[in-house]
Parts: sequence; C-alpha cells; structure tokens
Amino acid sequence: MAQALPSAAYTGRFAPTPSGPLHAGSLITALASYLDARAHQGRWHLRIEDIDTPRVVHGADQHIMQQLQALEMRWDAPPIWQSRRLRHYQAAFKQLEQAGSIYGCACTRAQLPPGPYPGICRDGLAAGTGPRAWRWRVPAGRVSFEDRWAGPQTQDVAQEVGDFILRRADGVWTYQLAVVVDDAAQHITHIVRGADLLDSTARQILLTQALGALPALTLHVPLLCDTQGYKLSKQNHAPALDLTHPLETLLSAWRALGFDASGINTLEAFWPYATQQWHQRFP
Ligand code: GLU
Repeated sequence: MAQALPSAAYTGRFAPTPSGPLHAGSLITALASYLDARAHQGRWHLRIEDIDTPRVVHGADQHIMQQLQALEMRWDAPPIWQSRRLRHYQAAFKQLEQAGSIYGCACTRAQLPPGPYPGICRDGLAAGTGPRAWRWRVPAGRVSFEDRWAGPQTQDVAQEVGDFILRRADGVWTYQLAVVVDDAAQHITHIVRGADLLDSTARQILLTQALGALPALTLHVPLLCDTQGYKLSKQNHAPALDLTHPLETLLSAWRALGFDASGINTLEAFWPYATQQWHQRFP
C-alpha cells in the first residue's frame, strides 16, 4: 500500500548554499529543520541555493545530498536548484517593478557609509550615471514577529536596513529575493535555519507580503562557534563530518542544540527519541 503523504499543514525546508560539504555547524541546522518537520508530521524539502555563483563549489550539492542520506535525513520531494529557477526571480522582480517599487542604483560600495542605505538614488540617478544594481523601496513601519526559538522580534526595515538590493550589478538575483520567491513557490509554512539569518527575516516578511504571499513561521537555531567565537563555516575550515559513525555525528549536533541523549545507542532509537523530544520543546 502506498504510504500516505505527510501533511500539507506543515512544509519545511533545508536550503544549503553549496559552497562546500556540510560541516558541524550546517548539520545542526539540517537536523533542527528535519526534526521540526518530522515532529509535526510535515513535509521536508531540500533546496540548493546555488545562484550566488562565485561561492558555489562544483559537486558540493551532490556531496551534501550524500551526507544527508548517510545520516538518514530524507526529503519528501525532488530537490530544487535555484540556478534553474531564474525565470521565477525575473517574474517576481517584474511584478515589483510594475508596482513602481524598484529603482536602479548607481552607488558603489566604497561610496556608501556603513549602516542603512541612505536612499541616494531613490529619486533618480545623477546625470551621467547608470544603474549598477536594483533596489526595492522598503515600505515604512515596524515589522514584528515571534521567532519560535528567539522570541518576539521587531525591526524597522526602512530605518535600520533601508532599500535593499534584489539584483546585483553582475546580474545575480540576491538571496533575499530568491529565498522569498522559493519559500512562497514551495508553500513553506515553517522555516528553521541558523541565527545569522534572524536579521534578514523582517526584510523577507515585507517582500513576501509585497508579492502577495503569506510569510512562514520561523525558528532560528543558535550558531555553532569555534573556540575563538567565530561562526563555524566553510570559510574558516570547519572539519568534515564523520559519516562512518553517523550516530555519533548526529548526537554531537543534537547536543549542540541543547538536548540530552544519554542512553541512546542506535540510529533506530535516536530518530523517534529526538523527534519526540523536539516536539515537546517546540510543539
Ligand atoms: N542558503 C543559506 C545558507 O546556506 C540559508 C538560507 C535560508 O535558510 O533561508 O546559509
């Protein structure tokens, strides 16, 4: 008999940038998002965020998929690659452009003070300059939301971030645009990801609403830092995951999320136990 499809009331996703294989830090995010989906009898999607071409490492997407499979994390639909979805970003951009909320910007990075974009090109480009990037006119007002891990959040995006870039000078669609388009297209209801993206959430809520979609709930898990307090990342050479001992690898990620795992000796015992513990903490 065919297995019933997981409920559509919960759709989650893991959206790695394939700039290298998963490491201890990104595994924590993968595990948290996987457990949250399983704990809510939801679907779990895999999205390869490979539009930021200079950072993409050839073959890293396949490597990540093999790692997830070796750790028994299985996605419920075929993965999607952002590099194959450029026309959807173009369409969303056009929709915003037609609403009059996109403008070309000639500012170079060196020209801009640190902090929010001061709106230099908002009312038109200076004579003799051409657009280098395209910004979105951020609507005024505060955005408030409740993060399932970090609690109540509020940000005045117009004041604190300013109009942000949707298309870069080199033609690349930015993460902020692509992630919003894809979360809406995949009907993502729950986003679980690293705390470094908590600060992007208010921007994404505004953009999602501007595109006529419903923002997902979020849960941002704390980042794993190295002994010097830096975010563990591919850039600072986080060690490779040990897939010859999948249980131990999963248990370290599980402990890093602040959970206990005493008495768990097999993968078969780990999954139901961790799913149930997660559900208790994040019902
Ligand atoms: N692609 C991003 C990363 O690997 C994650 C984006 C997201 O989850 O919204 O850090």
